[in-house]
Amino acid sequence: MKGAASTDHPIMAHIIPIRRCNLSCTYCNEYDDYSKPVPLETVKHRLDLLGGLKTAVITLSGGEPMLHPELDEIIAHIRQVGSMAGLITNGYLLMPDRIQRLNDAGLDYLQISIDNVMPDDVSKKSLKVLDKKLQMLADYADFHVNINSVLGGGIHNPEDALTVGRRAMALGFTSTVGIIHDGDGQLRPLGPREREVFLEMKTFEKSHFSRLNYFQENIAKGEPSDWRCRAGSRYLYICEDGLVHYCSQQRGYPAKPLEDYTVDDIRREYITQKSCAPLCTVSCVHQISYFDFFRGKQTRTVEPLPQQQEHLISIKSSKS
Ligand code: SF4
Ligand code: SF4
Repeated sequence: MKGAASTDHPIMAHIIPIRRCNLSCTYCNEYDDYSKPVPLETVKHRLDLLGGLKTAVITLSGGEPMLHPELDEIIAHIRQVGSMAGLITNGYLLMPDRIQRLNDAGLDYLQISIDNVMPDDVSKKSLKVLDKKLQMLADYADFHVNINSVLGGGIHNPEDALTVGRRAMALGFTSTVGIIHDGDGQLRPLGPREREVFLEMKTFEKSHFSRLNYFQENIAKGEPSDWRCRAGSRYLYICEDGLVHYCSQQRGYPAKPLEDYTVDDIRREYITQKSCAPLCTVSCVHQISYFDFFRGKQTRTVEPLPQQQEHLISIKSSKS
């Protein structure tokens, strides 16, 4: 894969073409209900910069990226800069002709998160509402489809994740499961049934691309993991203002304009220990860490944020 062999290049960037969302899931801290789309030429310029850094995969996230009126041009431009194109969507705006246009634009993969079977006060990303959209994807999509279901974060019925995962696989899609983090992207322990469902769903993933056994037990038990977060280096999060952040849950660090982001920044963040890593739930960054698992110790430390201090203290005291 382009960019994976040399550690001087990002493997994945998430970029936000619009912060606005058409839903309002209660656990979400990544959307608003008013932002305008980032102008097409601005997005294209940012994609050129990511292409210049030799980013292997560029994924559009939000907010709801399908609210961007020029999404197809954006996807086509990702392909033009030489990266693979991904899209994370709540699926509400998918229709057969829209899926065909995503095919034509060159989309490589799409992920939908489905949170429950029936809509409730926490989330309307529900199998009942979205099943017809999944059927449309099965009928028309030329790209890979992954359905992500979630546990924790106030989701009422952990069994729903299993129902969603089984439906995804019956339609020929892949299925993953994530844990909804708290406001800082940090882990809270799962209940006993949630733990069982989480581990059962992880066996679905073993049959395809996600082989992350290392984190699974610790995450299910709510215990810290010892790993090297390569955010700011092998993974970049580009907000609607064009700033590079570690991830969606650590916005504000390093918050440097993508325009000025260089290989020196990538090298610095590669060796920077993130104090939020032990309790991190950001699974895409976990996955990317596996590319460099056996290389590159992290020798640079920065002071933990106050909320991270609190987490670490509470973990230590619960262990004593
Ligand atoms: S659909 Fe996604 S971006 Fe929108 S509120 Fe829900 S979790 Fe947040
Ligand atoms: S460990 Fe990395 S991915 Fe996880 S919250 Fe911290 S900066 Fe983000």
